[in-house]
Amino acid sequence: MKFIETRGNESGFASEVTFSDAILSPGASYGGLYVPKELPALDGSFFDGDLAYEELAKKLIELFDIDIEKGVIDEALNLYKKFDDPQNPAPLVAVKDDLFVLELYHGPTRAFKDMALQPFGFILSHLAQALDQKYLILAATSGDTGPATLESFKDRENIQVACLYPSGGTSDVQRLQMVTEDGKNLKVIGIKGDFDDAQNALKSLLNSEAFKAKLEESSISLSAANSVNFGRILFQIIYHIHAYNQLLKIAKIQMGDKIYITIPSGNFGNALGAYYAKKMGLPVKKILIASNANNVLKELITKGIYDLRDKTLKNTYSPAMDILKSSNIERVLFDLFGASRTKELMESLNHQNYYALREDELAKLQEIFDAVDSSDAYVLEVIKSYAECGYIMDPHTATCIKAYERLKSKEIPMVICSTAEWTKFAPTMAKALSSSDKQMSDKEALEFMKERYNLKISDKISSLFDKKVIHNTVVEKEMINDEIIKFIS
Ligand SMILES: *Cc1c(COP(=O)(O)O)cnc(C)c1O
Repeated sequence: MKFIETRGNESGFASEVTFSDAILSPGASYGGLYVPKELPALDGSFFDGDLAYEELAKKLIELFDIDIEKGVIDEALNLYKKFDDPQNPAPLVAVKDDLFVLELYHGPTRAFKDMALQPFGFILSHLAQALDQKYLILAATSGDTGPATLESFKDRENIQVACLYPSGGTSDVQRLQMVTEDGKNLKVIGIKGDFDDAQNALKSLLNSEAFKAKLEESSISLSAANSVNFGRILFQIIYHIHAYNQLLKIAKIQMGDKIYITIPSGNFGNALGAYYAKKMGLPVKKILIASNANNVLKELITKGIYDLRDKTLKNTYSPAMDILKSSNIERVLFDLFGASRTKELMESLNHQNYYALREDELAKLQEIFDAVDSSDAYVLEVIKSYAECGYIMDPHTATCIKAYERLKSKEIPMVICSTAEWTKFAPTMAKALSSSDKQMSDKEALEFMKERYNLKISDKISSLFDKKVIHNTVVEKEMINDEIIKFIS
C-alpha cells in the first residue's frame, strides 16, 4: 500500500510514499496530509462475532499491506493486553434496547487516544531504532493527547517527547497524568496561555530556522503524534468493525444489517476511522457527528460551510472537542472531491477563514454524515438522566445523546463512541450530579462520585494525587523555544 497527498504533489516531495515514510514525516506537499492510495475492501471473514480484537486488528493491518514486519505489528498489538480486559480492549455496553456504547477508554490513560497511540508509539519507535535515527515528537495538548503520547513513548529508545499544555487549561487529573510521568526522554511544559497558544507555539517552532538548525546539529528529526499522522488513523478503523461484530455476537443484528455510529468529534480522527470502515464495507447507515458549542463540524455537515470568520474558541465541559480547525476533514474532502478541489478549499480556509461546498458536494457529504451540537447545559442534563438509569458517561460521550434523540430512525441500532472515562472530568460530573453548587476539586469530585454511585476508580487515577511531580516548568509563550532546545541538547 502506498500513500498519496491530499493537496496533490509539488516537486520536492515524492509523489507516493510508504507507510513508514508517511508516519515518520507526516507533512505532505502544500501543507497537505497523507492518505492511502486506495482503500482495500473487507471480505466476509471480517464480520464474525467471535473474532478477537487482536485477530481483527491483524487481519485489517494485513489488508493494508504496510511496510512493517509482522513481528513488530504483533508486538504493538500485544499492548492491548494492558487494557482492563486483556481479551477485549473496546467493550460494547447495552444502555437501551437500541443504544450501545463502545467504551474506548479502558487503556492506561483512560481516554480513547490510547486505542491508537499505544500501538502507534511502539511502531514509530521501532522504526526510529531500525533507522538508527533520533526523533523528537512535539505534542500540543488540551488534555488527552498529552498523557497518551507520554505514556506511549516513555523510555522508548531514539525518541524524545516534548509536550506543551495550557497551564490551568486542563483538569487536575489530566495535568497530573503529564507532570508526574517519569520517563527520562520526556519533557512536559506548561505554558501561560490557552490551547491555541500551545498549538501556535508548536507551529511556529516547526517553522523556525534556529530551531531546525539546532535539531540538525544534534542529528534529530522531527515527527508528530497528533491525528494528522496516518499511523494513528489506521488503528482507529478497527474498533468500529469490532463494535459491529459485538452486535452480531449478541444477535442484535444479522450480517448486512445497518447501524448508526455516533462520534463526539474534534480533530475528526475517530470519525475518519468510521468513514474509512464504511467505505471498506462496514454496513453503516450514517455516521453522526456530535459537536459542542464550537460547532464548526455541525455547520459544515448541515450547511456546507466552514466559516471561522466570526468565531473564537469557546471553553466547554467537553474540552477535547474545543477546536476550530479540524484537521482530518481534509482527508474526507480529498476522498470525495479529489486533490485539486481539496487544495482549493483548504487554501480558502487558510486565507479567507472560510470555504463553501457546492450543492452537489454537500449532498455527497450528507449521504454519509449528519451532525448535531450540544450546549454545556444539555450535557449536564444528559449525564444526570443517564446516571439515574445506571449508566455513567463523561461529558464528551454525553454530546452523542443529542444525535440519538434527534437523528435516528427507531429500528436501527446506534453505537456511540465513548471517548473518555468520567474520572478525567470528575468536577463536571459532580456539577451535573450533586445538588450542591459548590465547585469541587478533582479529588473531591472523584470521592463524591465513588461514594454516591459506588464506582471503582482505577489505581492509575487515584494514585496520581500521591505521585511526585517531576515537571515543574511553566513558562511564557516566548520561552518555549529555549526550553525545548535546552531539553534536546
Ligand atoms: C480527542 C478526543 C475527542 C475528539 O476526537 P477526534 O478524533 O479528534 O475527533 C473526543 N473526546 C475525547 C475525550 C478526546 O480525548
